[in-house]
Amino acid sequence: MLIVMKAHASEEQVRGVCQKIESLGLRPHSIPGSQRTAIGITGNEMELDPGIFDEMPGVQEVIRVSKPYKLVSRDLKEENTVIRFPGTDATFGGNEVAVIAGPCAIESREQALATAERVAKAGAKFFRGGAYKPRTSPYSFQGLAEDGLKILAEVRDRYGLLIVTEAIDNESLDLVEKCADVIQIGARNMQNFSLLKRAGKARTPVLLKRGMSATVEEFLMAAEYIMSEGNYNVVLCERGVRTFADHTRNTLDLSVVPAVQRLSHLPIIVDPSHGTGKRNKVTPLSRAAVAVGADGLIIEVHPDPDRALSDGKQSLYPEQFDELMVEIRQIAGVLGRTVANPVANPGARRTSPVAATAAGSAAAR
Ligand code: PEP
Ligand code: MN
Repeated sequence: MLIVMKAHASEEQVRGVCQKIESLGLRPHSIPGSQRTAIGITGNEMELDPGIFDEMPGVQEVIRVSKPYKLVSRDLKEENTVIRFPGTDATFGGNEVAVIAGPCAIESREQALATAERVAKAGAKFFRGGAYKPRTSPYSFQGLAEDGLKILAEVRDRYGLLIVTEAIDNESLDLVEKCADVIQIGARNMQNFSLLKRAGKARTPVLLKRGMSATVEEFLMAAEYIMSEGNYNVVLCERGVRTFADHTRNTLDLSVVPAVQRLSHLPIIVDPSHGTGKRNKVTPLSRAAVAVGADGLIIEVHPDPDRALSDGKQSLYPEQFDELMVEIRQIAGVLGRTVANPVANPGARRTSPVAATAAGSAAAR
């Protein structure tokens, strides 16, 4: 059930409805919009009687939500969610197409800093790199763990890049949440419900990757798990699904972008690196992702892909990334969107987003 407040409902009236919901042993989720506030209710196993709220002061209408997800739905919030990072001008879901770039895994301080400098100069505002890697083989490189997180903290400090890094279980999430600006939940964990609930308790935005055989509904329900625990800053990410096709590692499902945008207010970005698995396809599919209306890209870049410890074959050389940024800037322009400009001296940027994050940042609007 969803309670839509009147456009001029007072804060006290909103609070009154939230208190009523709590008195029933349920959880209110008050989501302010540009026109009005809507309040989602979770925790009820049975249908609620709309009459309980109908006559309360400030209530415009009580809506039964027919879809299985509520908080991710456009029924709750008509306008797009824009996730902000105080102390910076970076966003997800705003007019600017967000660009996250960096290696698959943090391998060494030198590798991370060299990549970070290049992608920051090209205009990326977010840096990716796994310190905890979910690998198909237990014998493959598993990541540098806490040492990797320390390197990421240095990357942020030196280049003012916002850090996106993966948590693979509840223990790593405890550590990742202290260091990251965005917590990544990988495709293999999209339906790890205890991890999703834990991410929902974090105050850091979450990048949720689509499972490799997840339907749109399953994808949105995974985001609902995070939101139902009170973390409303979720970015969805299409990263390719399994099909019979064997010319690429996965089949990048770009049609999911407009499909999700129709159903949900959450931002959705595209990962053409894992989506194709092949370097020569990353640039074309990145162009297409921007053209289809994605809110961002996450791209693997490595200074020496032939020697990468993971995903070298799909990692761009830094020069290729430079070129990609130039191209997508033009494509975004056709749609009235922007891609950040190159930065001559990213070292001077040093916005200290960590402090901003600690101060309670990144509220979804
Ligand atoms: C990654 O981004 O490094 C990764 C492991 O991606 P996915 O979860 O999409 O396979
Ligand atoms: Mn990878």
